[in-house]
This record gives sequence, structure tokens and C-alpha cells, in this order.
Amino acid sequence: MNVPLLDLKAQYATIKGEVMAAVNEVFDSQYFILGPKVGEFECACAVYIGVLYAVGVTSGSDALIMALMALGIKPKDEVITTPYTFFATAGAIARIGAVPVFVDIDPKTYNIDASRIEKAITKKTKAIIPVHLYGQCADMDAILAIARKHKLHVIEDAAQAIGAKYKGRQAGTMGDIGCFSFFPSKNLGGAGDGGLVTCTSKELFDTLVKLRNHGMHPKYYHAIVGGNFRLDALQAVVLNVKLKHLDSWHEARRANAAFYNNAFKSTTEITTPFMISDCYSIYNQYVVRVPNRDKVLEKMKAANIGVEVYYPVSLHMQECFKYLGYHEGDFPESERAARETLALPIYPELTVEQKRYVADTLIAAVKG
Ligand SMILES: *Cc1c(COP(=O)(O)O)cnc(C)c1O
Repeated sequence: MNVPLLDLKAQYATIKGEVMAAVNEVFDSQYFILGPKVGEFECACAVYIGVLYAVGVTSGSDALIMALMALGIKPKDEVITTPYTFFATAGAIARIGAVPVFVDIDPKTYNIDASRIEKAITKKTKAIIPVHLYGQCADMDAILAIARKHKLHVIEDAAQAIGAKYKGRQAGTMGDIGCFSFFPSKNLGGAGDGGLVTCTSKELFDTLVKLRNHGMHPKYYHAIVGGNFRLDALQAVVLNVKLKHLDSWHEARRANAAFYNNAFKSTTEITTPFMISDCYSIYNQYVVRVPNRDKVLEKMKAANIGVEVYYPVSLHMQECFKYLGYHEGDFPESERAARETLALPIYPELTVEQKRYVADTLIAAVKG
């Protein structure tokens, strides 16, 4: 049996008619940049996420850059984040000339360990970027309390967490700004790159809208420098079709996670994802911790199962961040997670046979 890590063709087959009709409408209109279709999608997102303002942008990476710009983060300012995330989180901080300051993760959730944040705060600290990794929210109560106490901005990297909930609140509504990605492998994925920024402040919204279009307002007048961070109408209509199915896809991923949890419950070698109580994970990834990870990975691949390591090299160990002065051993939990974890196929269209096969193969692999 062959089980890919993600099968976008299976999903597309269920919505092809709707997507093609929406795409044809855009071609007929020849209105490709921003415009009414992007506006419609932004409204739908604001309603779905439960936030006042949503701004469609080029990517999740640019969403993070725009958030930092809108909050006035300046070169040499320090921004606290996790070293165990996709590169873009820290990349955005570095791109605007600010300094990423890493704080190790909680080994259970793989999210930033809030109890270690205060030690990393200095006079130069301006913001915290918690990442809701794999679709589960970071410990926002603790993070928001620290931010309030030290007057820091909070930017939620919710790239993997659209629709995730934390104690009744939605990802992207808790910090000053929420950043989302529509990269095809996210739960809500476009036909290419795309992203979204959310906020509840009208002032921030106005700034974000200007930043998205070179800081221009009114036309050809630039009070601030922005960039071309505009979402395409083609992406907006595809995403708008998919948004209507998103909750059912989340539920299917959660059912798959429950299947795996049950299948692995008597296999002590496999550590299944730890869920904090009163929260709703959208399982962008289902990540297990196993002994002899690299050997297990090879066995899974040999059995034609798509598995992946997120993320094999913690960000403090990346060559481009050498100048930050971190060393191996500085963030032991991030480094250990990078060595011990493995993501399994969790996409909504998995069949029972496929799940059974993945589970049986993994159990045999960790025992052998
Ligand atoms: C995907 C992702 C991003 C970047 O989003 P893009 O749309 O690919 O630019 C940022 N942060 C995290 C945690 C991500 O998973």
C-alpha cells in the first residue's frame, strides 16, 4: 500500500467543479489583483476566525513581516520566539533587521515554553511571536500575561492553526495581530502562495492595508514604506471555496488523530501528541516521538508511507543565524524534538485501510 504524507489530489477531486467555476469567473472578469473577490474572501475569513479585520496577503511569511512592520518593530529591537518552527517565523524578524531571541519549547506540546519567556526579556524586547505549532495553540494565557506585564506586542504565528481554539478563543484573535498561511499543505491551502493578517484594532488594520500596497494612500502618495503584499483574486476564490469545507476537513483530521491515538495506546515506545485541555487542535500535523527515529523513518519510507521530520534543524543551529551567537545545547528540548519526532499522514481523505497500515507499520518499526 502507498500512503503519501499529503494527498491534495484526493481533496481536489471532491471540489473540482466548484473551484473551476470560481476560477472561470475571475478569468471572465479579468480582475486579478485585490478587488471584490479578495474582499469577499477577507470578510468570510473574518467571520470564520471571529475577528474584526482580516487582510489577504501574499504569504504567511509576508504576513509576519507586515505584522512586525505595522507594530513599528525597528532594527535591533528584540523579538522573542521559538527555535522549533518553520524558518519564516524567525526569518521575518531578521528580514526587518530585528533580532530573533529564542526560548526553548515545552517538550509535551512542542510550543514555546511560556515559563522561560521572562528570563529572555531585556530592555530591547518589543514583541513575542508564539507559534501554534502543528495546529495546537501555544499557552496563550501565560504568554498574554507576560506581554501585558512587560508591555510587549504579541504576534500569533497561526500559519498552521486556522480554526484552532484555545479555551474558547480562536487562533489569530488573541494577540495584537494574527498571521495565517495558505501554503498548499496547510489545512486551508490555496493554488499557490497566499496568507492573511488579522487584528481587532482599526488603526492597525488601516496600517496593514496600506503596507500591503506600498504604503500608498491615497493613490501615489506614500506616508510609509510598504511592499507588494497583495493577495491574488484567483487565490481568494479558490480559498473561498475551500473555506466552506474547512471545518469538515478539521474534523476528519481529528478523527484520524483519534484513530492513531487509539492504535498506539498500548505501545509505550510511541509518544502521541499531547493535547492541552479545553483546546481544539486542527492537526495540521500529527507528530509522534519515537526511539531510534532515523531507523523508524527509513522503515516507514521503505513501506511506502510518507513521513516527514518537522523540523530537523532547530533555528538557533541554522547557518544564517550564526551571528546570533547560539550554540548546540542552548535549547535542549528543541534539539531533542528535532532528533526524536516524526510526522505521520493525517490528511482528511485517508482511508481506514491506510490508517491501519500506517499504524501497524509504525508499531512494528518501533518494536523491531
Ligand atoms: C507555513 C508557515 C509559515 C510561512 O507561510 P508561507 O505561506 O509558506 O510563507 C510561517 N510560519 C509557520 C509556523 C508555518 O508553518
